[in-house]
Amino acid sequence: MDLVEQLLAGNRRALARVISQVEDGTDAAQGLLAALYGHTGRAHVIGITGPPGSGKSTLVNALARAYRTTGKTVGIIAVDPTSPFSGGALLGDRVRMRDLAGDPGIFIRSMATRGSLGGLARATADVLSVIDAAGFDRILIETVGVGQAEIDIASAAHTTIVVEAPGLGDEVQAIKAGVLEIADVFAVNKADRDGADHTVMALHMMQGLAAAGMASPAAGHHRGERASHGHPEAGEQPDGGWLPPIVKTIAVRGEGVEELHGWIERHADYLHSTRQLSQREAVRARSELDQILRDRLLATLLRRLPPGQLDSIIAAIARREMDPYSAADRLLAACDPLGTGAGAP
Ligand code: GDP
Repeated sequence: MDLVEQLLAGNRRALARVISQVEDGTDAAQGLLAALYGHTGRAHVIGITGPPGSGKSTLVNALARAYRTTGKTVGIIAVDPTSPFSGGALLGDRVRMRDLAGDPGIFIRSMATRGSLGGLARATADVLSVIDAAGFDRILIETVGVGQAEIDIASAAHTTIVVEAPGLGDEVQAIKAGVLEIADVFAVNKADRDGADHTVMALHMMQGLAAAGMASPAAGHHRGERASHGHPEAGEQPDGGWLPPIVKTIAVRGEGVEELHGWIERHADYLHSTRQLSQREAVRARSELDQILRDRLLATLLRRLPPGQLDSIIAAIARREMDPYSAADRLLAACDPLGTGAGAP
């Protein structure tokens, strides 16, 4: 059996070896990904993001255990864009390994930055495909922070959980970083601490503001129907939209995890029952293809340039002797990266 067949048959060492090849970008990697691609698209992918210390790793562990009690298999990808290490154990992993190690229904992989963040998002998407092909039911991708890099990585997820915690001063940061747009479920963790209710209220307020800003008067009427706790009922809306629920959790005690798990599954059902899952897949396919094409065209172009030409043009732009658009046109004309002759003057 070759490596791909072994992986598809459930061999864990084969899975780890394929992931290493993909991460290292070996010559064999593209062929492996191509062979596996037809087996992907079955896992439900859950992104977990939030500031450091909010309790993401603890929550991911607890969620993994909750899934295991329902018999589902779980892959975990821990992405740390700030750490230069890869493939080895990140700090949070030691806790995780101790908790979850030895369960064949769980597979854990850490990833960290190598060069550009764009490269990390690309590598994460590839590793995700490999774990998906290996047949895991749910894949949890945990990213540190709430910056653009994490949002890019989260875009690979079907359901995105944004974790907040009281006392981190994130109420404002959350609005800035645009997490309101990416969150399908909010978890306010460390609900045992003072200020958790305040964080929940701040999130409700942000949702209210967003709804008031975006909704038509008719939709506003729907949202005006109050649930018993004084906020619109979360989840699927009468107009077909989705209002992210805000779930309080105490990850260290496993409290609220069952509810969080329930909301993730409800969101998965919602995506399946509407046409949103296929729409999201199409958007994702488009952006993946765009990115690969951009990378390859740029690489081809740079390969064809005479040595030193790029540096001299960059220097000319920096000295304001040439504008960057004209420079790009000149390089394209000189290199004709598509080999069509169309770029020639
Ligand atoms: P991450 O950096 O977001 O992954 O956060 P961790 O999961 O590593 O948690 C950071 C710290 O907060 C650890 O010491 C956890 O034990 C602690 N922690 C996690 N969840 C809770 C919680 O619900 N309540 C309290 N009080 N502490 C928690």
